[in-house]
Parts: sequence; structure tokens; C-alpha cells
Amino acid sequence: MGFLSDLREDLSFFGGFKLTIQHLTRPRVTFQYPEEKKPKQPRQHGRHVLNRYEDGMEKCIGCELCAGVCPANCIYVRGLDNPPDHPVSPGERYGFVYEINYLRCINCMLCVEACPTEAITDSKMFEFSFTNRADAIYTKTELVVDDEGRPQKMPWEDWREGDDLMTSGWMRATAPAGNAAYEGVTQWSGELGYGVRQGEGGQSENRDDTVTGSKLLRDLLPGHLLKEDIDPVHLGVQGRVTRAKKQGEFNKVRLEQARDRLVAKRAQWKIDKENRKAAK
Ligand code: SF4
Ligand code: SF4
Repeated sequence: MGFLSDLREDLSFFGGFKLTIQHLTRPRVTFQYPEEKKPKQPRQHGRHVLNRYEDGMEKCIGCELCAGVCPANCIYVRGLDNPPDHPVSPGERYGFVYEINYLRCINCMLCVEACPTEAITDSKMFEFSFTNRADAIYTKTELVVDDEGRPQKMPWEDWREGDDLMTSGWMRATAPAGNAAYEGVTQWSGELGYGVRQGEGGQSENRDDTVTGSKLLRDLLPGHLLKEDIDPVHLGVQGRVTRAKKQGEFNKVRLEQARDRLVAKRAQWKIDKENRKAAK
């Protein structure tokens, strides 16, 4: 064996670094959570909402099917006859009491599947935590959408842009009968604030990603893609510069937010001080 082949053999362990070096120039997969978040898919299961029709009436008819199907036994519903003068829902009855205990919910969404009127659907918001058990039990006050058709936002919930959009898209991916010919074909009622929602196309050709908010995997997971799938601005030195610029912009926004908070606090201190002086 010659000197060169000996040397090559001795240094062959460097081959093990090839993959590591390749990944040095690839975009980061990690995010600065919770400041940054990845976009959510239409089928993301989040906390529920109780929907209303476009005329403002509640969709829930108090049939208790959702409570019956719930495997965690965490829904409590009581129906009541609609008052003839002021009906709450278009049905004979409406959901008088409606509660979901989120300490038990396993986010299976069987309740959503069981509901005959599409009253209960899920938003994409799953980032919430409680400091007491009472807050974990959502009643109608928290679950029914507001007059704009938007979900109520509790102080302990971290809502971001888009978390209340396309709330029920996932359950509409296929036709109820499983017949692909009806996939994405509208067969449901409109919702307050949103009108008739577009069905998700699922696996067929019949899909409109702009309307449903579906994202292709390559848009969501750039770090897992092959080089040819990645936009050149995210690769190599150019990629580093792009990411540095993005991070710089992000830091700038955070600095500005911190400065605004400080200014607001100072103003409040001044007001408090003057109030204390006036009170003396
Ligand atoms: S998502 Fe599942 S566990 Fe949660 S309330 Fe609905 S049926 Fe029950
Ligand atoms: S949410 Fe749906 S399934 Fe549950 S009680 Fe209301 S109408 Fe019935």
C-alpha cells in the first residue's frame, strides 16, 4: 500500500462529517416557539367552537349526540324547547346548557363527526393552559361564536392570525358517503361571518388550496426537502444572509414592542404619581 492510499484510509472517518456539513447550509427546521409559529393545517384539531347560522341563530339543537359519542365523557348538554317568540335555533329545541371539560377532552373530534347540524367544530387553536379547574370547563358563554362569527378568545389562550379560519375544513375533505365523486362538493350550511365554507379537496383534483388554506408539504417543511426543492434564497451563503435579515427584522419588531411597553409603563407611572399627589 502506498503512502497516499494509507493516508486516504486514515482520513476516511471524515466521510462521517459529510452529512453534518451538508446540513450546515440547509435552512433551520426549528422555530423560536412561542414567538414564532409554523402555519397550521386545515385539519389541525384545536379547541371547539359552537357555530351559528348566517342569520345569527345557533346551530346546536341540543340533541346530545355529541355527548353520547364522546369517548372521554367530557361533554354535558341539556336541550330545551325553543321559546316560540324568541327561538334560539331553527329547530324545535336548542342547546340550553353546553359544557366541555378540557381536562378530559382527547381531541378526537368524534363530537364534530356526530353533530347533525355542524354546530360543533374545532378551531386550530390548541395553545391554552389553565391555572384552575373551573377555567378548563368551557360553557356556552365561551364556546358559542360572537356576533361576528369569531370564536371567543379567553385570556389564557394564545390566539394567532389564522387560528380561527377554516375551522371545520378537515371534516369536509371527503363526501359523507365516502363517494369520491362528491368530494369537495358543498353540502353544508353557511356560518355566521364566513358564509358557506369551501370544502377541502383532499386527495382528488377538486381542490382549491388558496380557499381552504391547505399548504403543500414543501412549503411547510423546507428543512426536510432535497436541494432542488428549496428556493435558492434559502440555500448556502445567500440563505444565511436571508435568515440573518429575517432575524434582524424580527429582533427590530421585538425591540420596538419592548420600547412601546416601556413608554406606556412610564406614562402610567407618571399618571399614578400625579394621582397620588392630588390625593394628598
Ligand atoms: S374531541 Fe373527542 S374527547 Fe373531546 S369533546 Fe369531542 S368527542 Fe369528546
Ligand atoms: S353540538 Fe350538535 S350533536 Fe351536540 S347537542 Fe348540539 S346539535 Fe347535537
